[in-house]
Amino acid sequence: MTVSLHNTLAKTTEKFTPLEDGKVRMYTCGPTVYNYLTVGNWFGYVMWDVLVRTLRTHGYEVTRVMNITDVGHLVSDADDGEDKLEKGAKRDGKTAWEVAEFYGNDFLEGMKKLGLIIPEHITKATEYIPQQLELVRTLKDKGYTYQIDDGIYFDTAKFPTYADFAGLDLEAQKAGARVEFNAEKRNPSDFALWKFTPAGEKRDMEWPTPADLTDEGLERPGFPGWHLECSAMAMTLLGDTLDIHGGGIDHIPVHHTNEIAQSEAASGQQFSRYWIHNNHLKVDGTKISKSLGNGYTLQDLAERGYTPMDYRMFVLQGHYRNEGNFTFENLTAAKNRLAHWRNVAALRHQTHDSNTSETEQSVPSLAASGIIKEALYDDLDTPRALQIIDEIFREVESHSLNRIDRHALIEVLHTIDDVLGLQLLESTPDITDEQKQLILERRRAREAKDWAKSDRLRDELAEQGVAVRDTASGSIWEYTS
Ligand SMILES: [Zn+2]
Repeated sequence: MTVSLHNTLAKTTEKFTPLEDGKVRMYTCGPTVYNYLTVGNWFGYVMWDVLVRTLRTHGYEVTRVMNITDVGHLVSDADDGEDKLEKGAKRDGKTAWEVAEFYGNDFLEGMKKLGLIIPEHITKATEYIPQQLELVRTLKDKGYTYQIDDGIYFDTAKFPTYADFAGLDLEAQKAGARVEFNAEKRNPSDFALWKFTPAGEKRDMEWPTPADLTDEGLERPGFPGWHLECSAMAMTLLGDTLDIHGGGIDHIPVHHTNEIAQSEAASGQQFSRYWIHNNHLKVDGTKISKSLGNGYTLQDLAERGYTPMDYRMFVLQGHYRNEGNFTFENLTAAKNRLAHWRNVAALRHQTHDSNTSETEQSVPSLAASGIIKEALYDDLDTPRALQIIDEIFREVESHSLNRIDRHALIEVLHTIDDVLGLQLLESTPDITDEQKQLILERRRAREAKDWAKSDRLRDELAEQGVAVRDTASGSIWEYTS
């Protein structure tokens, strides 16, 4: 079984083979840390986590770099407007450094809550300033840059394949250039590699632009462009050519197009062999926007009684390349599904190792894990994987406890946790010996037709979070939710 992925570069789904046998070098664009992340932002991070898990499950050693953009991302992607961090600083009455620290930490906390595998390298843009300046120098030496009033720009006309990745119509861009288009730019698609601090201003975050990089040969304060950050950090840690670069589809026409142009112009090598893009998530069928107040955070979900794992299950219910729609109804469906799966996971505590006879078939089948993995290897088809798991679990539940193969069930649960990260095993502990004793007493009471006692014991257990369900083949306990 090989892994196949939809490659934006090839515009088709293709077999994945890394450059170096068994090893994957991967970069995914991280957050700009000026605010809390919304359910829309987290959508992509959960999907990237599934990609990493799928590659690892297949046996690849994955080295992943993710940036934290803590400087240089302007309100408009077209290199104008305020720096999001400096804007956040004014809003919160803090410095840009404090804002980056605060929301950066909140992001890392969120990653842990969602059970996301922490990338090998999480790099802050402010910690890679020399590498970014070096990249500007290389591009300047090769003749790709020019300086205008507000910064050093990349001349996209000098990179002939600039429009290819996103299928851009550059002529139409020129014709339709908006009035606020920076008239000093040679082409509307040119982008800032490095910006200068406007004269008379003092930014919280700024660094000296080395004298050899400016036309006047004088040092002056400046800061990196957002696109430059990703290229510099990716190439510093992973080399000139990556196996996989991931991000949201909104990044295709500008951010990723610019990353490709500046990286390949500098190195003369292909920047990334596979480009994987996740679609957007809408809320109640509309775009997430501040004015609508629909940018729910993990904290908002917690206040409404939903856990990060409920949200994770919600994300997995959709395919990463399809537009998602977040509603509380969908989230509730995910929460119920997760609760159900946990109760199936709890069956492993209620069956024994050697209670299946050889004449009768036991469940789940030994092929189950392989079928789940296959769905993931097929361009991360999480909705299909979930359906397959539902079927496997239905089959398990339709059998009596003594037909359940404990080892096979545990293996399936391990596979689910490995590829989907739902933490089924660790979230489903066995009940205590005292609780088991109460279940036994209740069974005796029922056998003696002492219904009052049986009900009392059932209530006592329910108070402790244990529900007892009577089936044809005996009592089964579940977690009350
Ligand atoms: Zn990026």
